[in-house]
Amino acid sequence: IPAAPATTAHTAAPAFTADPTVHRVLTGDRPTGPLHLGHYFGTLQNRVRLQRQGVEMFVVIADYQVITDRDSADRLAEHTENLVLDYLAAGLDPDRATIFTHSAVPALNQLLLPFLSLVSVSELSRNPTVKDEIAHSGQAAVNGLMFTYPVHQAADILFCKANLVPVGQDQLPHLEVARTVARRFNERYPHADGSAVFPRPEALLSDAPLLLGTDGGKMSKSRGNAVSLGATEDETARLIRGAKTDTDRRIGYDPVNRPEVASLVLLAALCQDRTPEEIAAELGDGGSAVLKRTVTESVNEFLRPMRDRRAELATDRGYLRQVLRDGAERANAVADATLAEVRAVMGSI
Ligand code: ATP
Ligand code: MG
Repeated sequence: IPAAPATTAHTAAPAFTADPTVHRVLTGDRPTGPLHLGHYFGTLQNRVRLQRQGVEMFVVIADYQVITDRDSADRLAEHTENLVLDYLAAGLDPDRATIFTHSAVPALNQLLLPFLSLVSVSELSRNPTVKDEIAHSGQAAVNGLMFTYPVHQAADILFCKANLVPVGQDQLPHLEVARTVARRFNERYPHADGSAVFPRPEALLSDAPLLLGTDGGKMSKSRGNAVSLGATEDETARLIRGAKTDTDRRIGYDPVNRPEVASLVLLAALCQDRTPEEIAAELGDGGSAVLKRTVTESVNEFLRPMRDRRAELATDRGYLRQVLRDGAERANAVADATLAEVRAVMGSI
């Protein structure tokens, strides 16, 4: 497939309406648990917007990445199917988006080998997101995959020549690795006519590139601090009631000095499609009880249609598996073509 043209980084998806064919999107998640509000406002909402605009999209379920920071791939099949469920409930259309698991596309791992030769060990070990994940992994020994998975992700992005990657902030260092790999590969192995094999992908950040969880840290599947998209309304209320805030009764939007309160205000704003400043002004000096009640109601109202759709789709697990089989077939065809091209420019080694 031809390389999609280079793009420049943007922060707002609507800027892309002009010509959707200029973009090809790759994005994805690890099957480590249910998707949460951080995913929705960090990347999923942008994926759905881009898809509606007609942008071609690939979504990888990064199953091999699960064993970077844990010793077993616990309930992998179940988590994988549930990710598909979350995607479809949120509005991804499997006829338009190619949804597949990394492990079902062997050519991705073959791309990894030449890509690994393009980065140095010190570049891999200074990656700040990898360092943060090691700190949270609780593992006694850090395995090799932990250091190499950003390169593995570069293969996930570049196999389909994606030029736009809707992600949360934690992914920016990894996007840099993918850009470096693309640049160095193109320099070392150009086509005979001098043209480049890979585009240099850009990150697409949302208005909530780092949504905080109920403990004040990054909302994460694995940190027990997340409101999942499929949670019940009661669970949602309980989780938000337990969220960390402060004792200042005045509600403000100050992400630097009062990050926990600001993140809750932002959540209500995103759900109501208003600005965080408006929400903060409206809540005045109501204190955290009023803030939490507002956030709970906003989140439950916002997620209600998605949750209803999720419950309907959940009754047909066979359909979810079919979506993955179809996606794997499409992704394999694209990956095989790219691998053949890579082998050709490298002299068919
Ligand atoms: P885990 O704890 O297992 O790593 P996670 O919650 O970090 O799970 P990932 O599958 O690692 O989720 O990330 C999937 C995508 O969602 C990435 O693009 C990531 O940047 C984005 N994302 C995850 N958490 C947040 C968040 N709190 N705010 C914004 N974006 C997020
Ligand atoms: Mg993560």
